[in-house]
Amino acid sequence: MKSNKSLAQKIQKVLDHDNFETREGLKDLFKKDLFVPKYSISINDERELALLRLKKIAKEKLISVMDFENNPSRIFSAHEIVGQMDGSVATKMTVQFNLFGGTLLNLGNNLLHEQKLKDIDSLASVGCFGLTELGYGNNAAEMQTTANYNSLTKEFVLNTPSTLSRKYWITNGALHAHYCIVFAKLIANNEDEGIHAFLVPIRDKNLEIKKGVSIWDMGHKIGINGIDNASIGFNNVKITKEALLGKTSSINEKGEFKSTINKKRDRFLNVADRLLSGRLCIASMMIGASKYTLDLAINYANKRLAVGQTGKSDTPIFNFQFYQRSIIPLLAKTVCYNLTMNYIKDIFENKTQVDKVEKIILCCSAKATLAWHNEEVASMCRERSGGQGYLSANRMGEAILGSHSGITAEGDNAVLMQKVSKELLGLEKNNTTRVLINYLSSKLPSFFKQSLFGLKFGDILKSSTQHRLLNFKKNTLLSNLAISLKNAKKKGNTIYEDWMYNQSDEIQLLASSYFDCQVLSVCDRYEKKVDPDIQPIIKDIKTLYFLSSVESNISWYLTNEVISSKEAKTIIKLSKKYCHIISKKALTICKAFGIPDHMKLAPMYNDIEAFNSFDNRGELSEENRNW
Ligand SMILES: Cc1cc2nc3c(=O)[nH]c(=O)nc-3n(C[C@H](O)[C@H](O)[C@H](O)COP(=O)(O)OP(=O)(O)OC[C@H]3O[C@@H](n4cnc5c(N)ncnc54)[C@H](O)[C@@H]3O)c2cc1C
Repeated sequence: MKSNKSLAQKIQKVLDHDNFETREGLKDLFKKDLFVPKYSISINDERELALLRLKKIAKEKLISVMDFENNPSRIFSAHEIVGQMDGSVATKMTVQFNLFGGTLLNLGNNLLHEQKLKDIDSLASVGCFGLTELGYGNNAAEMQTTANYNSLTKEFVLNTPSTLSRKYWITNGALHAHYCIVFAKLIANNEDEGIHAFLVPIRDKNLEIKKGVSIWDMGHKIGINGIDNASIGFNNVKITKEALLGKTSSINEKGEFKSTINKKRDRFLNVADRLLSGRLCIASMMIGASKYTLDLAINYANKRLAVGQTGKSDTPIFNFQFYQRSIIPLLAKTVCYNLTMNYIKDIFENKTQVDKVEKIILCCSAKATLAWHNEEVASMCRERSGGQGYLSANRMGEAILGSHSGITAEGDNAVLMQKVSKELLGLEKNNTTRVLINYLSSKLPSFFKQSLFGLKFGDILKSSTQHRLLNFKKNTLLSNLAISLKNAKKKGNTIYEDWMYNQSDEIQLLASSYFDCQVLSVCDRYEKKVDPDIQPIIKDIKTLYFLSSVESNISWYLTNEVISSKEAKTIIKLSKKYCHIISKKALTICKAFGIPDHMKLAPMYNDIEAFNSFDNRGELSEENRNW
């Protein structure tokens, strides 16, 4: 019989997956006083603290923009660990290294860009990413900022012609950025050539704002106030021709525009490419935060005593079924999503080959699913931890608001899920026979459907049954959506009308069903290849994942007559049983999340009695940590 410690170590190795040294290096760094959380501080101090922390991480070379060429997973691992320490720092980091640095690396094509690239790791040049405009967020392709080429002076002239076209929400913009990668419509010879990216100096080395640039501090936000978001405007700002990030588009000596990409829409997608790795950065931050929050809540719940059999306060709240039913499925999901992220990171690094569209939809669905998941984890853990969960020093508020930033930034979750469904439909376009068979299967009488796709003759704990059930939902949604859109067209409606006004539930459910199927497949593969000692635990976690997925969609399975009400009851019963099974291993799983003691400063991790035995002002400074 293996000890819990050795099991935890083995699980941690599987979850951490890569870049163990960088992970440990970051955690080690967080022992320093600079990383002790501070709460009652001004917004200015919060922002300076976030910058100082990021500078320290950069100084220790624990992340580099060049990782994108040599070891992209290192960037994602850094996001996971930094996300556990401070969401503001992780957000500043993601803009500096991925959105700003990554775009420069990807699209830069001249000496100026190369020089700037050298300053990124050291933060000698701090950058921001100016895509969103006040009036154009999810529909950024309609942005109004222009970069007009003047062939006489060989310069571009940047303008944000209205309030709605000001760059908005720009992280690092209000205080710290020297440069902004500005997205604007490139106009050459009076022709709109589509959206391109430009490297624009917005402040000099002394942080004086450049002529023609107006920067307005967006001020206090509902969360992550350590980041300095700005509204940025440009009024006839002249930039050199070399400012254009011109790997695919350029202006020749005669002032003529050339591009290797024909369609304007594709030029925009090309320059916004960094959003894809950005989505993995956010997903990594989200998984890191979920692990931290669950570890904190579950450890606390094992110590926090409430009413027992005799009415005395002698029973850990963790023992209550109510607690386990709300928290344990989230714990299982976190492990399964972590494994799925490992798979997606391998795809991003080309260690595992899939086609380009599949890679895009995996990144989009992972970002959306993990950000929503993190929000659920944070809100649920906050609530289940009672009043302690409401104290800032216990960090759950940070987790809730951090997850909301993840939900909205770099593509609104629901909009990304629409993209996933759209691409899935595109992939099926040439499989009309399969679509038709799936459509007809979904219309079969319930007895046949249950026999073929449901649980009727299958053992629910068998992997093949589980796949059949999840796949049936995905395939039914996909084929029904394809047929509905086709029928709507026949009736004279536009695809837009049907898509935006009639099918939104199905579209969202299709994308999440697709991701569920992916998660189950990844977990299956892991179950087969992990150390035999941890195989049973991975299997149980996967089973609970599957049961929770069906349970939370039980109305779909019932109304579509894939399972009977008797089978639905069995699912719920089993789900309860597996919650209980996993609850026995919850502390071991939490240990495998690898949070070191020095990162566990929250009172809930420690001794709330000792913390509250004097006037602590809710701060975690050394003198207040008398446990
Ligand atoms: C903390 C934070 C940091 C950020 N940092 C940056 C940054 O550094 N640089 C940058 O460029 N941007 C940044 N952003 C902006 C972010 O990318 C945008 O907020 C995001 O793209 C959404 O745009 P919007 O806010 O205009 O929302 P809107 O486009 O107004 O969308 C609002 C809602 O409308 C609905 N909606 C919109 N379009 C559709 C659709 N097609 N289908 C269905 N529903 C739809 C959805 O419900 C959506 O949630 C940041 C945002 C936050 C919160």
